[in-house]
Amino acid sequence: MKHKVTLLPGDGIGPEITEAAKKVVAAATADIEWEIQPAGAEAIEKFGTPMPESTVESIRKNRVALKGPITTPVGGGFRSVNVYIRKKLNLYACLRPCRSFEGVEVPFPGIDLVVVRENTEDVYAGIEFEKNSEEVKKLSEISKVEFPANCGISIKPISEEASEKICRFAFEYAVKHKRKKVTGVHKANIMKYTDGIFLDVFRKVAAEYPQIESEDRIVDNMTMQLVKKPQLYDVLVLPNLYGDIISDLCAGLVGGLGLAPGANIGDDCAVFEPTHGSAPKHAGKNRINPISMILSSAMMLDYLGESDASEKVVKGVSNLIREGKFLTYDLGGSAKTSEVGDRIAEIISKGEFAEDVL
Ligand code: NAD
Repeated sequence: MKHKVTLLPGDGIGPEITEAAKKVVAAATADIEWEIQPAGAEAIEKFGTPMPESTVESIRKNRVALKGPITTPVGGGFRSVNVYIRKKLNLYACLRPCRSFEGVEVPFPGIDLVVVRENTEDVYAGIEFEKNSEEVKKLSEISKVEFPANCGISIKPISEEASEKICRFAFEYAVKHKRKKVTGVHKANIMKYTDGIFLDVFRKVAAEYPQIESEDRIVDNMTMQLVKKPQLYDVLVLPNLYGDIISDLCAGLVGGLGLAPGANIGDDCAVFEPTHGSAPKHAGKNRINPISMILSSAMMLDYLGESDASEKVVKGVSNLIREGKFLTYDLGGSAKTSEVGDRIAEIISKGEFAEDVL
């Protein structure tokens, strides 16, 4: 069955890793028809906005997108387009598997962690008040707290509804993928009315899945645990900000952001994209690792029901890494982005899979 998929190359390193992923997907299946849509820097030039409505509509229509990273100005400028898409399409679950591959030097072998990040609220709701604004004065009155001079404020909404959706998603994922344990991560000792909700809901949902072990961890302890004994963990479910930070930490555990795929999933649509950003300093140099994007496309194929093609892509990646000839700088090699994509596509087309490589 032919699937029409929206493709957002994005900006920075996005177009390079997208090209590589397209080649690999084409080698694994003929059943994808891409609908290429602008977003990010290219869209600003052509449409005056980093996220034209036509791009959002294309994702809504096709229900599935593969997306390259998009730059967000730091400090000032427009708000994150990535956050905008997730909220606009209610892609409430961010799924980021981190597994180690044989051939990548890492401190702990055999890591297989899954980060499930809430994607719609928390401080990413974008509710901020500028220093010296009327709103900051009103908030000071409401809270009966005198804020320091020149103080900006961010608001962190955490709802029972969104917490329940993400916790249920994590447990359902654990059941479907035969995982043993789900760990809920929070800071409910300090943020009792927000993370407190998340923790309460986590415990209630966990009670409905007695077959899956559950536990909770305070986020600062979680970071230490993950760098010291990551083998003890399996599926992690977290509010938005902790999920964002822990995703990069887990990517580091398995060899870096170049190996970290991801998906943003809602009830109606899904957008697949790497964990990392647009890495502007590497853009246009044909040297960045495209595997994060290639593995994101494997997740996309699986979501589309193309499990054979998805498996071929993952095996192609595993074989390429084990072979060790075409590795980018982050994995200790000097291969070009395009060479990695070409070689994985070749391994898949020729079926050059080693028997014992998963
Ligand atoms: P980044 O994730 O883009 O890059 C951080 C570093 O990680 C890079 O300098 C590079 O050393 C390494 N890295 C990232 N991707 C790699 C890859 N494929 N292969 C090898 N190494 C890789 O983070 P940043 O520099 O903090 O952010 C750059 C921009 O990306 C910012 O504007 C940020 O807002 C945006 N961003 C976008 C997304 C998204 O589109 N979903 C996600 C995160 C950040």
